Amino acid sequence: MLTRPCWVEIDTRALEDNVRFLAGLAAPHADLLAVVKADAYGHSLALCAPPAVRAGARWLGVTSVEEGIAARAACPEARVLVLGGAFPGQGGDVIRHRLTTVVWETAQIDELEAAANAAGAHAVPVHLEIDTGMSRQGADAEGLARVLPRFGAGSPLHLEAVMTHLFAADEADGRQTQSQLDRTDEALSQIEAAGRHAEWLNVGNSAALLAGQSGTIAALAARYKMKALMRPGLALYGLAPQYDPAFGPEVPPTLAEARRRLRPVLSWKCRVVALRSVPANAVVGYNGTFVATEPMRLALIPAGYADGLDRKLSNRFSLLVRGQRAPLVGRISMDQAVLDVTEIPAIQTGDEVVILGTQGTETISAFDHAQAAGTIPWEIFTRIGQRVPRIAI
Ligand SMILES: *Cc1c(COP(=O)(O)O)cnc(C)c1O
Repeated sequence: MLTRPCWVEIDTRALEDNVRFLAGLAAPHADLLAVVKADAYGHSLALCAPPAVRAGARWLGVTSVEEGIAARAACPEARVLVLGGAFPGQGGDVIRHRLTTVVWETAQIDELEAAANAAGAHAVPVHLEIDTGMSRQGADAEGLARVLPRFGAGSPLHLEAVMTHLFAADEADGRQTQSQLDRTDEALSQIEAAGRHAEWLNVGNSAALLAGQSGTIAALAARYKMKALMRPGLALYGLAPQYDPAFGPEVPPTLAEARRRLRPVLSWKCRVVALRSVPANAVVGYNGTFVATEPMRLALIPAGYADGLDRKLSNRFSLLVRGQRAPLVGRISMDQAVLDVTEIPAIQTGDEVVILGTQGTETISAFDHAQAAGTIPWEIFTRIGQRVPRIAI
């Protein structure tokens, strides 16, 4: 189907290369779980999950049971971990679609046990999350004492992994991470003392992996006869998180290599749909926030804030046309925006405009968008509108 000319291109080969590179960074210490939540960070789960698995990720991570069902459809053989856990009433879907959920409260265990018993399922794997300081989800020491008895011999559930989330692995001094690993160690000894054992220690996002933490995490796992599993998201899509400037020029070698090797997967493009010339003093867009200082040439593009182009970029960001930067003038509308192309006389209707990505020698990165919009690349990617088609290239 032909669509309005505004689309996202997904370079699946770049994704596969990134997965192979990250698996290499994790090896031999840790296995890789590819985080493809929120429709693969806006890159399209359907387009990204199969190449990620092909490139060697045996595990996929999603937010919800709904996303897990989509991941299962895309990748029948992969392990699918639901990071946000199952909600009441979703136990049946967890069993039916062979999903693995994160659990940390007895109510979640009740839900899964009931569904497993109803289906006659045994050894249904779960990953037990420990709150090691983020205060978001996960069991504290008391919560752990409540859930551990639930994994006895009669349970239809199988404690496959212990998991926690490092929330400051991009900070140079590493104190938060060390404190979290210490608390993980305490939880693991509490689990061991309760006579329970899990095969996997599931810890570490992109920042932890790129900062070279896989060996540390694997060493902790090995003390409890466990294997390490790490969970990169952003890096799969070709971006190294921005680290604390205190890392200085002496960044860990793993991070320096990642900056050379990772390739962005997503480009966001549209086409010039109309051109017009305006005289000096013409106003542009809602409330006339831009006034032409001289006779100007303007290009209309079919992308607005409903497509994910942040309205805060109005009058303060440029896009690429014919390899040149063209400023966004006037307020970005819901569905459209206007570029000043006075300096690009050869421009024609139908010319490709790069909103995010590379054209000629110029690049606009998700970090550039994030900085201009006062947010982070994760949000830039995930709010590119659902109506913008994702196309594999
Ligand atoms: C999103 C998420 C990740 C991946 O984080 P990145 O910073 O994108 O690598 C890992 N673990 C959990 C629990 C997450 O929610």
